[in-house]
Amino acid sequence: MKFLENVSLAEYTTFKIGGKAKYFCVVKNEEELYEALDFAKGKNTESLIMPFFILGGGSNILVSDDGFDGLVVKMEMTGVSFEDGEKSDNKTDVGKILVTAQAGDNWDRLVAETVKKELWGLENLSGIPGTVGAAPVQDIGAYGAEAKDTIVSVRAIDSTTGAARTFTNSECQFSYRESFFKTAEGKKYIITSVTFKLSKIPSPNLSYKDLKEYFSENGREERDSLSSRPPSLSEIRKAVIEIRKGKFPELSKVGTAGSFWKNPIISNQQFEKLKIRYPNTPSFSFGDKIKIPLAWILDNVCGLKGYTKGPVSLWTNQPLVVVAEKGTSFKEIESLTCEVTNIVKQKTGIDIEKEVQYIA
Ligand SMILES: Cc1cc2nc3c(=O)[nH]c(=O)nc-3n(C[C@H](O)[C@H](O)[C@H](O)COP(=O)(O)OP(=O)(O)OC[C@H]3O[C@@H](n4cnc5c(N)ncnc54)[C@H](O)[C@@H]3O)c2cc1C
Repeated sequence: MKFLENVSLAEYTTFKIGGKAKYFCVVKNEEELYEALDFAKGKNTESLIMPFFILGGGSNILVSDDGFDGLVVKMEMTGVSFEDGEKSDNKTDVGKILVTAQAGDNWDRLVAETVKKELWGLENLSGIPGTVGAAPVQDIGAYGAEAKDTIVSVRAIDSTTGAARTFTNSECQFSYRESFFKTAEGKKYIITSVTFKLSKIPSPNLSYKDLKEYFSENGREERDSLSSRPPSLSEIRKAVIEIRKGKFPELSKVGTAGSFWKNPIISNQQFEKLKIRYPNTPSFSFGDKIKIPLAWILDNVCGLKGYTKGPVSLWTNQPLVVVAEKGTSFKEIESLTCEVTNIVKQKTGIDIEKEVQYIA
C-alpha cells in the first residue's frame, strides 16, 4: 500500500479548493485501513500520533488553503450484498431486504442498483453525491427522506483501539444533518459498511412539495394513462434527478459542496418574533421547535439571491448552495459565507450553522 506525500486535496473534493495533505493513501479493504492506522501511529502503539482524516467523495468538505498536516485516508472499499428478510423469524421483516454496502461505494450507484432491483426506501435520495460511508455521518436527507429511515446498522472501526463495532440505528443518534459520528467521541470511528432495510412492497413517499407538484403537474401528461396507479420506483428516481438538476449546479462546471448551511431550527418564541417582522416566513414543525427554510430568508429577507463576491456566489436557483469558480481560495469562500452569516444574524437574530465541514 502506498503512502503518498504532499497530495493536493482540491482534486478530491467537489469544491475543488484547498491545499495539500502531508500524507495520503487509498484503502480498498479493512486490512489496508488497519495498515493506514498503523502508519498514523508510527512507533507509538498506544494512540495516534498523527492527525488523520477520512475522505469519501469530498462533497461535504472545504479544505483550507494550508491543507491538512496529517494523513488523509480515502475510502475505496466497495461491494454490495442483499439478504432476504423473509428468511428471518421476525414477522415485520416479510417483504424486506437487508442491503449492506461498503463505505467506499458510490451513494447514487447504490440507489440506482436498489431501484433496479425494485427495492423501496432510497429512491428519494437519488442524485446525492458522495459515498455510502458518509451517508450516516450527517444523516443525508432530501425530498422527504433521510438515510436514518432505512439504516438498520453501521459497522465501524475504532481508530484508537482497532476494534470493530456495530451501531444500531438508535446508537447512531441521528438528527437533522447530525449523528453520533459527528461528536467528539464518534469522530474516532471509521465507518466500513452500512446496512439498510428496504422493502419489496411499493411505498412511494411523495410528501415533499416539489415531488407532489412534479407528479400532479409536470408528470401529468406523461402519466395520464397511468393516473390510476402511484408512480413507480424508477419514475420517482427520474423525478428526483430532474428536480435536482434545476436546483444544483453541474459539478463539472463549478465548485460546490451543495448546501453550505443547515436550515435553522428555532424556538416557537423566536419564530413568533420573526413573524412580526416577516409575516410570510414559511415554517415546518420540528419536534417542539420550528424549522425555517434558509433559502427563503436569504432571498426574501436578506435580498441575497445570486449574491456574488469575486469568484464566489450564492447559486441563483438555490441560494443555500455556495459556488466557486476554479482557482478560488478558501479565504474567498470564507469571506462571502461570513458576510452572509452576519447579514442573516442582523436581519433575523438567527445564528446559522454550516453544513459543510472545514478541514484544516
Ligand atoms: C451538488 C451537491 C448536492 C448535495 N445534496 C445533498 C442533499 O440533497 N442532501 C444531503 O444530505 N447532502 C447533500 N450534499 C452533501 C454531500 O453530498 C453529502 O453530505 C455526502 O454524504 C458526503 O459524502 P462524501 O463521501 O462526499 O463525504 P466527504 O465530503 O468526503 O466527507 C464528509 C464527512 O464525512 C466523514 N466521512 C466520510 N466517510 C466516512 C467514513 N467511512 N467513516 C467516517 N467518517 C466518514 C468525513 O471525514 C467528513 O467529516 C450535496 C453535495 C453536493 C456537492
